[in-house]
Order: sequence, then C-alpha cells, then structure tokens
Amino acid sequence: MEIAIIGTGYVGLVTGTCLSETGNHVTCVDINEQKVKMMQQGKLPIYEPGLEQLFHRNINNERLLFTTDLAGAIQNASIIFLALPTPPGGDGSADLSYVLGAAKDIACLISSYKVIVTKSTVPVGTADKVKAVFEKYTDVEVAVVSNPEFLREGVAVEDFMKPDRVVVGTTDQRARKLMADLYSPYVRQGNPIIFMDERSAELTKYAANSFLATKISFMNEIANLCELVGADVDMVRLGVGSDERIGKRFLFPGIGYGGSCFPKDVQALAKAADENNYDFRILNSVMSVNEIQKKILVEKLKKYYNGNLEGKRFALWGLAFKPETDDIREAPALYIIDELLKAGAVVVAYDPEAINNVKSQLADSILYANDLYEALVGTDALLILTEWSAFRNPDFDTIKLNMKDKVIFDGRNLYDLQKMEEHGFYYNSIGRQVVN
Ligand code: NAD
Repeated sequence: MEIAIIGTGYVGLVTGTCLSETGNHVTCVDINEQKVKMMQQGKLPIYEPGLEQLFHRNINNERLLFTTDLAGAIQNASIIFLALPTPPGGDGSADLSYVLGAAKDIACLISSYKVIVTKSTVPVGTADKVKAVFEKYTDVEVAVVSNPEFLREGVAVEDFMKPDRVVVGTTDQRARKLMADLYSPYVRQGNPIIFMDERSAELTKYAANSFLATKISFMNEIANLCELVGADVDMVRLGVGSDERIGKRFLFPGIGYGGSCFPKDVQALAKAADENNYDFRILNSVMSVNEIQKKILVEKLKKYYNGNLEGKRFALWGLAFKPETDDIREAPALYIIDELLKAGAVVVAYDPEAINNVKSQLADSILYANDLYEALVGTDALLILTEWSAFRNPDFDTIKLNMKDKVIFDGRNLYDLQKMEEHGFYYNSIGRQVVN
C-alpha cells in the first residue's frame, strides 16, 4: 500500500518505519525542515531501541521516504495517518489546531478517495470535526478513521510490531477492509483488531492512559502510607499483584508519572468530562496526588537537611521520564531540578540518552556528567530519578569513594535495603523503611 504519515515525531516515525517493514511504501512528512534533512541523511532524530535497524533497512529498500512536501506525499497514498501533536491548550483540553490544520491542508490537495487516520490522541468528537473540515474544503469522498496508538516509548518498535490490540474506529466499510489488510501482518499471533465506532475508539485511548495513571497514583499513595505505618511497599506490591484481577504490572511506586502522554491525557479527559457537566472525581485526585508525588524526594531531602539545601551538591541519575528513551517532556526530574535550584542547591546530572535534550532546555543552570560515577564526585547525596538498567547494579565501592557523604535518595526503589545497610549508606526510598 501507499501510505503517508503526517508528523514524524515519536509516534509518526515509529509508525511509518514499522509500516514500511511489512512492504508498504511510506512517505513521512514533517514541517520541521531540519528534522526531515536529518532523516533524509539516514540519521534518527530520536532514541528508540530497535528503530535504527528498521529505519536503515527500509530507507535502503526505498520503502521509507522523508519530505516536507505534503502535496507530493499524499498524491498516491490510499491511507494518510495524522500523527500530529495534541498538546494541552490553556484550559487543559487538547489543542486540535495541528490536526484540524493538517486536515484542511490535505482537503485542499486531494483528488481521489482517501482514508484519513487519526493516530494522535484526540478527544471524543474529533473524527466529526475532521469530517466537517473535509466537507467544507473538498467534494472528494474520504473516510475518517480513529486509530489511537498504544505504543510505549522505550519499547515502541516492539509494541508496534506486536501490539496487544489494534483499535480501529470507523463505520466506513471500505476503510475497515483497508485497515484490516494493513494491520493483519502485525496480529498474526492472534491479538485482536477491535473495530468500533469513532467515538468509542477516541475514548478508549483516554480511558487506557487515565486508568494507568490512576494505578500509578494509587500505588504512590499506598507507598506514602507504608512509610507512615512501617510497611514495605515492595511486599505489598507483590502481595496484591499476584491477584490476577489486579496484575503484576504497573504497580511500582515512584516520583509520579510524567512524559508527553499521561499528564496531558488525564487532564484532557477530566476537562472533557467537565464540559459534559460530569465531575470525574477520581481523575482530579489522580492529578493532585501526582503533583505532590513529583516533589516527594525534595520534601525528603529538606527533612534530612533541616530545611536547608543552600550550597548542597546533588548528583542526579536519570533525567528521562522513563528508561530507554531520550524524552524529557514532563519528566519528574525537571520538576525536581527546578525545586533544587530554587533552594540554592548545585545539581550534577547524568542520563545515558537524555542529556542533550536537557542541555537544550536548561543550558548551564546545572552541571552535566559524562558517566554515572563522574556525577558523584564531591556530592552530598545521590538522587535516583529514572530506572535505567545501568543503575541497577553499580559498583557501590566506587560510589562511596566518589561521594562526600554516603547518602542516597532513591525515587525508583532500585536497591535492596539490606545491601544498602551493609554498604553503610543512608538510604531513603519510596514506601520502604529508611536505612541509616
Ligand atoms: P511529537 O511532538 O514527537 O511529534 C509531532 C511531529 O509533528 C513533530 O515532528 C512536528 O514537527 C510535526 N508537525 C507539527 N505540525 C505539523 C504539520 N502541520 N505537518 C507535518 N508535521 C507537523 O509527538 P508524538 O509524541 O509523536 O505524539 C503525537 C501524537 O500521538 C500526540 O497526540 C500524542 O498524544 C500521541 N501519542 C503519543 C505517544 C508517545 O508515546 N509519544 C503514544 C501514543 C500516542
């Protein structure tokens, strides 16, 4: 099939590359000329495990192209994906200007039937808005399909190639057949393509992300309670997670959810509920719990240092909002850095992939280290903010040698309490007893 992808960010680039892998001809369009130039030169603008090999293979096989020329890209395409940003607007609702703007541009250019697929996360009713744009600007028939994306950054390629499910919202029979053909190579193990109406598909994505965010906030509250009552959240997590109705995954407490999706999607769903005169009480609590949790390590630090962080030097391990990505959008680390700087502390940061993104945002307001041990030299405490695998089994003797004080605040519960005690660390984690 001939496919065009409009918007070549985390979702668009992974979608385009993975669709070309099964033999489709894919043209990815972006308005960012620098990004397009990079990709035309065979360079990836993002870090995503497993993407590079597929990217090069399909470029070499001439199945994957990059351009800024929208008209050329969509001319022969039978399916056009919109993988555009839907950032929060001023009032928390999703800003649809990118999606509707691209729809208008496409409507003014097409001359034959197209399937327009919204991959961006969009509020209920967006498919109708996109349809209305096409009706206004062209007489050419189109089908507007809602096909939300469930990939996770860090395992995006794997998620796209073998999705748990594909959700397709459409009532157009021709579009349904095309989408079934397109996705069939990805669900050969028997995972479902779930067809539904557009509105249900749109809501499914928000419901999924909001449910996951709820799980995180719930476990963070359990963790906070564990600290007060002397229980260990890791034990509680294992105890509850072995119940199949609850499940083992996504029960890890930490320093709050971040990233480009959960914060904005929970907010957008709450706003959508509000607009329909429905007070979605749980979501409002999920958001306020998260705001508090993002600052919990700073609160712990302040308590430890009697409220005075002035002049203290802290090493930060991990800046990305989660491991295996360079994405720092809404990363809890950024909130923590902000609080530490406000309190007069010096921050030395290390991350395996996200350093450059942080540098372009924070410049020289903090210091940067080239490796995890270098970050520790002369520091009062180490803060662990992202659970990168490389942090799981470090050389604790080198850590002790490099640091001024043997103090660790772990926002990801990476280490065994007994081991920390044996090494003589002060170790303060989430929902577990403090080791002195
Ligand atoms: P992104 O910011 O990484 O990428 C968006 C891209 O669109 C950018 O490269 C930008 O230059 C480009 N763009 C903007 N306007 C354009 C236009 N008019 N024409 C062509 N290109 C244009 O965003 P993302 O993370 O890929 O997210 C895209 C959508 O997918 C959002 O709605 C998001 O909520 C949703 N989503 C994201 C993820 C994720 O993990 N990142 C997962 C599922 C769904």
